[in-house]
Amino acid sequence: MKILKVGDKTKSACDNCKAFVNASYQLRNVPFSDNSDIVKNVLVGVCDCCDAVISLPHQSTPLVKKQLEKQKGSIESRVPSHLIDILNLASFELSGSTDFVPMIVRYYLHNLSTRELSAKNIDKYLTSDLAKGKAQKRLSIKGRNVISDIENLKKITHISSTSDLIKSIILRINDDILLQKHPKSKKILKNLVAISS
Ligand SMILES: [Zn+2]
Repeated sequence: MKILKVGDKTKSACDNCKAFVNASYQLRNVPFSDNSDIVKNVLVGVCDCCDAVISLPHQSTPLVKKQLEKQKGSIESRVPSHLIDILNLASFELSGSTDFVPMIVRYYLHNLSTRELSAKNIDKYLTSDLAKGKAQKRLSIKGRNVISDIENLKKITHISSTSDLIKSIILRINDDILLQKHPKSKKILKNLVAISS
């Protein structure tokens, strides 16, 4: 792999100029295509005619990946220990191991926050007996959209505390997977587990 320096020249296609143009490698702040973030000071190919960013050299990809990792985000919540047991049992029920706990929580979080699954009455779980107990165990959930999904779901459910929200999700998982009240979710999750293991 050839390492490029600022100012090195290349030739590349420019969408803007609709031509094959002379380009130079320059440091630029480059936004993601969905405008969700910017990679700062990264070496890119810039069109000499119109100044558009037209290529990302291989040596710049670690910087882009690093920024993507940052964007992933994570939340940490403390919950009563029996709620972690519920998640472990649900994962065991779906896959035969406890490896899929984070994926199950993310599946519910995402689908409830996008209304693919109904979040109606999910707050009722907070008054149930299983919602009680000292929050003694830590649950961490990482991934793209985790933070925005939490914010959306808070708006939908009017539950303002993150740990209450997580508790409700876990008790919903208990209903759906362990008490088998929602066989459709169980089936989808089983399929997800099958293709990701
Ligand atoms: Zn151009």
